[in-house]
Amino acid sequence: MLHGPRKGKRVLRIDLAHADTEPLEFDERPVVPPAAGGVDVVSAAPVEISGRVEQAGKGFLLEGEVGGSARLRCVRCLGEFDFSFSERLDLHLLPLAAAPEDDETRLARGDLEVRFYTEPQIDLAELAAEQFGLAVPMKPLCAESCRGMCPRCGANLNQGACSCPPETDDRLAALQDWRPSE
Ligand SMILES: [Zn+2]
Ligand SMILES: [Zn+2]
Repeated sequence: MLHGPRKGKRVLRIDLAHADTEPLEFDERPVVPPAAGGVDVVSAAPVEISGRVEQAGKGFLLEGEVGGSARLRCVRCLGEFDFSFSERLDLHLLPLAAAPEDDETRLARGDLEVRFYTEPQIDLAELAAEQFGLAVPMKPLCAESCRGMCPRCGANLNQGACSCPPETDDRLAALQDWRPSE
């Protein structure tokens, strides 16, 4: 919809005032900073965000899809892995002036997320970065069954056992060697 220069920070702003007579469609690929997804994001592909905004009562409805992919670092083994997400977007945008007691607002609190705005604008790059942040797990795991790292030599145990002697077995062996002499 809005095509800015390729380099630099693109401002993908939707002017909601333009959606008052007919729906505005959007389809963008904003670049999001990896940090938007937290410290375990190694790199992130541009987020795909598309949909439409239309006027609804005193505000606007935004419906669409958001998705993307990234390279994450597993918190258990520190190995990198691919992650992708795809979510529906359903936002009810209301002017901040619309009091929270407003009937319309209460009705909207079903499956729609309500947001208030001071300026009738939406920044798609900001929305994409926020959705990316919500999609990335707080503690990314390469697999639920990830075996993690050896606490002694740091080897990735998913790639096989390391050569550290198993500590617990040593203790067990010591216990087994000790027998009361009767
Ligand atoms: Zn892992
Ligand atoms: Zn080890």
